[in-house]
Amino acid sequence: MLQDLENLKQLQVADKEIQRLREEVAALPKRVAVIEEKLAATKAKLEKAKGAAKADEAARKKYEASIQDLQGKISKFRDQSLAVKTNDQYKALMHEIQFAEQEIRANEDKILEVMMNTEARDKDVKAAEAELKTETAEIEKEKEEARKRTAEDEKLLAEWNAKRDGLRSGIDPDTLRRYERVMKYRGSGLSEVRDQKCTTCQVMLRPQTYNEVRSGQTIIECESCQRLLYFNPENEAKIERTNLTTKRRAKPKVDSQQAWFYHPSFGEEGEVFLAFINASTTSSRRVFELHTGRQIGDILNREGSFRLAFPEDLNGVVRLNGQWDEEEIDSWGSELPMVVLDSLQRDLDLARAESSHSTHAAAAETPSEHPAAR
Ligand SMILES: [Zn+2]
Repeated sequence: MLQDLENLKQLQVADKEIQRLREEVAALPKRVAVIEEKLAATKAKLEKAKGAAKADEAARKKYEASIQDLQGKISKFRDQSLAVKTNDQYKALMHEIQFAEQEIRANEDKILEVMMNTEARDKDVKAAEAELKTETAEIEKEKEEARKRTAEDEKLLAEWNAKRDGLRSGIDPDTLRRYERVMKYRGSGLSEVRDQKCTTCQVMLRPQTYNEVRSGQTIIECESCQRLLYFNPENEAKIERTNLTTKRRAKPKVDSQQAWFYHPSFGEEGEVFLAFINASTTSSRRVFELHTGRQIGDILNREGSFRLAFPEDLNGVVRLNGQWDEEEIDSWGSELPMVVLDSLQRDLDLARAESSHSTHAAAAETPSEHPAAR
């Protein structure tokens, strides 16, 4: 079983790597395609700039032809003017010549305009050509890189696939089928449990499920996301250490309706945890073994609130932090869940550390009140 989980962990690593490599191989041509699109746009821009330059050239030629044409007309008019008989005819010819000269100037202005445009057009063409050159080089480089990377990825993929096949053959077929079903729908089939939670979907595990996962005897799936759960004691220990060092111990509430205590010598049982719960007119007491969390004896109910009903149990006890739903407490059965037991033991350690600290600190001042006196 434990070997199955170990293999599954490695299988999940292999599956994720295979997925990553496949995605990368699929993404490479897309990157090339993006640059190719850019390249096509630049080519179009260059064609347009070249086309505009050509149109300008044609226009300039047209204006030049018009000028030649007009100059021809003018010299014809001048020839005619030598042969005219009347003053009116002469005036009319002079008027024609004047008009043609005006036309020539208008065409010359247009040619000047086109020539000024041409400079800007040439710049556009040159810029587009330079851009095209850079992008062509870039795309060649990118294509070459994509080719290389694809070959590398394919090689890695083959290696990971072989590793994956080996791991799969070492896992119980039923477990493998459960893992792959979740993997298919959720992208991963395994999830670590930390702090009583499924670290992938963040849902809290029921105490019994948590204990089963911790024990590592069977493969349990998360009730919320169906991923197979595993427990890493090292990570859990890290969390507990962090909690111990970073969190200050909360003071138990004096007036709460539920109270947990550590009792150092409870009858013949020795060290125990006591849980008292006040109801409207009665109160109840539960006793649990300190190290195993096993419940000792039955629940004892008495009239009145617990401080009045069980005074003999409250001598020399240490008040602890603890607050659970009564229904939840009933659902525990005859044993404290591991997480509850851990929490009580941790709080006891903190209370002890705090009390030894404050005893030293308070020695010179007024004696501090013993928790049991409250
Ligand atoms: Zn989950």
